[in-house]
Amino acid sequence: MKVSRSKELFEEAKKYIPGGVNSPVRAFKSVGETPRFIERAKGSHIWDVDGNEYIDYVCSWGPMILGHAHPSVVEAIKEQAEKGTSYGAPTELEVKLAKMIVEAVPSVEKVRMVNSGTEATMSAIRLARGYTGKNKIVKFEGCYHGHVDALLVKAGSGLTTFGVPTSPGIPEDFAKHTITVPFNDIDALKRVIDEYGDDIAAVIMEPVMANAGLILPELSFLEKVRELTADRGIVLIFDEVITGFRLSLGGAQAYFGITPDLSCFGKIIGGGLPVGAFGGRAEIMDYLAPEGPVYQAGTLSGNPLAMVAGIKTLEELKKPGVYEELREKGKKLSEGMKEAARSAGIYDKLCFKSIESISIVYFTSVDVKNYQDALTSNTEAYAVFFRKMLEQGVYLAPSQFEVAFVSTAHTDEDIERTVKAAEVAFREVREI
Ligand code: PMP
Repeated sequence: MKVSRSKELFEEAKKYIPGGVNSPVRAFKSVGETPRFIERAKGSHIWDVDGNEYIDYVCSWGPMILGHAHPSVVEAIKEQAEKGTSYGAPTELEVKLAKMIVEAVPSVEKVRMVNSGTEATMSAIRLARGYTGKNKIVKFEGCYHGHVDALLVKAGSGLTTFGVPTSPGIPEDFAKHTITVPFNDIDALKRVIDEYGDDIAAVIMEPVMANAGLILPELSFLEKVRELTADRGIVLIFDEVITGFRLSLGGAQAYFGITPDLSCFGKIIGGGLPVGAFGGRAEIMDYLAPEGPVYQAGTLSGNPLAMVAGIKTLEELKKPGVYEELREKGKKLSEGMKEAARSAGIYDKLCFKSIESISIVYFTSVDVKNYQDALTSNTEAYAVFFRKMLEQGVYLAPSQFEVAFVSTAHTDEDIERTVKAAEVAFREVREI
């Protein structure tokens, strides 16, 4: 496979952009490959600058649920661009998208638009703190909520760990109010709430963990989290940046029947343009300026191009049968991958997880239920698998800890080709 132009561009990029990329995982560092510089995309396929074509399961890390360059989304963006790209003033489009989100997501009565998932979680936490007048937040090990200082905190060993920042540049003081507990472990959360409950403003969680591979919640765990937080007046924040409009139109909360107080969105609601949003109970949302005292703002928030792309995307998703179609395709892929692993004789050494149109294969025989389990995965083996898939024209996430997304644009043929390629790639993996 010729990648000379991508190589050249990467070298050039490194001169002007730190690490050559605008988001770290794009550098393909952990899989030891040349990052592909993408020239164009259509439906389920992307093309790099050397002319190589790939079936894309990254889907821009989730937003492209309709596939790339969906005709109605593209048309709406073009039409809006003619009318201006930003006004810094209210528009009818914002009202329309906000109403669509409120109608689709059970717990959301009011919603504010921002420009990224990071901004959404950052603002939701500030709001929860302002609303409750409390300081601490609880997050779960391995959940990613964007690069917000207080949320870039990893857990060390032991049951709970007070904030140790994962990145230099975050003073310990900024992270010390963050408590981390293991996912799917209700006793750990209960102990933390018993001890610090009086000063806990919020519990924030990805209802389905999709940034440490794919870790599914036990339903009783989600139910108990809701119960414990409600009992103590702690704001429960669902970070639905990935799961929102992905698991169902109403996100994970509709899927599992759990009602959080606040929710964060991004990705799909912007149809591939930079967007985020956070919303929830009106009583809490009204604490935001200008109605209330908690400050939050944005020059480009509610950007009209992003709004029309989001509106068109949600309009498509609301059509009957879309989520059934996504589920079927997701199932075809995940079942096919298992079959490929069986044929290659390594099924027992792998752990497969999937839900609706999201899936992953971990290179570990451990049944992954939390972050520590996920870390048992052999990332070297994943890198071998990834490279062999890429060589065969299948573009997976360049990290063991990122998931595969299926879009409505993926065809049966795409998935069949992917499964065939996977059998070859699994055979390349010698040691797990
Ligand atoms: N929350 C979750 C669950 C995410 O997956 C991400 C990004 N992948 C974010 C927040 C941050 O979103 P963004 O990259 O748009 O800032």
